[in-house]
Amino acid sequence: MSHTSRLTFLGAAGTVTGSRFLLETANRRFLIDCGLFQGPKRLRLKNWEPFPVSVADLDGILLTHAHIDHTGFLPRLRADGYEGPIWCTDATADLARILLPDTGHLQEEEARWANKRGYSKHHPAKPLFTRADAEATLPLLQPVAYGEHFRPADAFRAKYTDAGHILGSAILDLKSNLLGGPRKLVFSGDLGRPLDAVLRTPTQPYNVDYLVLESTYGNRLHAETDLLLDLARVVNEAMARDGVLVVPAFAVGRAQTLLFLLRTLEEDGLIEPVDIYLDSPMAQEALRVHRRHVADLNLRCRRLHLRGVDLFRPRNLRLSVSREDSIALHDIGKRAIIISASGMATGGRVLHHLAHRLPHPQHTILFIGFQAEGTRGRTIILEGRPHVKIHGQEVPIRAQIERIEGFSGHADYEEIMAWLLGFNRAPERVFLVHGQPEAAAELAHHIRKQFQWDVTVPEEGDHPLLNF
Ligand SMILES: [Zn+2]
Repeated sequence: MSHTSRLTFLGAAGTVTGSRFLLETANRRFLIDCGLFQGPKRLRLKNWEPFPVSVADLDGILLTHAHIDHTGFLPRLRADGYEGPIWCTDATADLARILLPDTGHLQEEEARWANKRGYSKHHPAKPLFTRADAEATLPLLQPVAYGEHFRPADAFRAKYTDAGHILGSAILDLKSNLLGGPRKLVFSGDLGRPLDAVLRTPTQPYNVDYLVLESTYGNRLHAETDLLLDLARVVNEAMARDGVLVVPAFAVGRAQTLLFLLRTLEEDGLIEPVDIYLDSPMAQEALRVHRRHVADLNLRCRRLHLRGVDLFRPRNLRLSVSREDSIALHDIGKRAIIISASGMATGGRVLHHLAHRLPHPQHTILFIGFQAEGTRGRTIILEGRPHVKIHGQEVPIRAQIERIEGFSGHADYEEIMAWLLGFNRAPERVFLVHGQPEAAAELAHHIRKQFQWDVTVPEEGDHPLLNF
């Protein structure tokens, strides 16, 4: 009996969002990841295209991690009638319970805004899905532990292992049993860096026959700097100016890592304890999820936890809950740190902090994440403009602008190559996804040159047959 399978690349092909891959095997159909396309309008419009698989024909969905570009299309499928299982790790389920309803809310807001401004083609403009659709998706989540074997179908077993990208992130390892022996198909998901401050190192898969590998930083190397020392310098200089330090940070992952590092710096005496405000309801919820999943963190964090250290709590951590609490932070004149979302200053509470602090040279704004084109964050850091528009007002940029790059959640190409070097044998085929064309092409070149492996950069819609 031949178990020939087909893998179709429905997204994240030639681009970094919209991760969705269809695996058809033994008359069953599974989606691996179910992400939203994000970024420029050309990509966002793809979320509205008819989904190529009928919901009734789908037998299950397997998620690698909670980021919206890997999960954000689930509520749309749910609204279309999907009722099957959605497997993921425990922490991914907990983070999805925060992220998906929030995304539904944003979709509704956007539609409301479009109707008010009359700029939608559709009259009235409709959200892609609602908060209620997202809430209705959550009972379908089927959390499994890292390392646990589970069987989405008789034809294969599945297992999640650490990917080190965000809390709960996983490499998905699928194993089928064909007549000729076992066959393994592995999805890297988003692959993290080897020495993350809080996360575990990505695990090493073995006996891989087919590998679907991300290539976000396929053409880049991260700067070799010491994250803690960089952060200590920025904090100390900001406090020496007697100002306030505002950090726009992604609410899930980045904000918690930052709190961990600030606590570490205080502990090591490299910074003076100051008041630190976490001004983002979502970051506070994600903080609770991080605390609940200490067991998923790296050994160093687990050891500190066993010694009674509250990992994500610098001495004077304060949580701003209400909108009024948030506005009241304007009254603080000096020597405080405000961490708020969104990370690229595209929305959220951080906007009013920026509007308040940017005009004054004693304050500091620190960016710790990638700033995509067209975002306010990019305008402030890179474009050297004297003003930035916030809430319809031109705000002068006179504050000190800082940037630390070492926070990336993605392995660079050397780190990916080092991970591949650990494979015990050559995969039969490698497919590069989740990268801009230049990044994927360069990583493909490195892999061919170093290992002489068969590497493909699939285009959207490509559907190779696999002996799986
Ligand atoms: Zn991700």
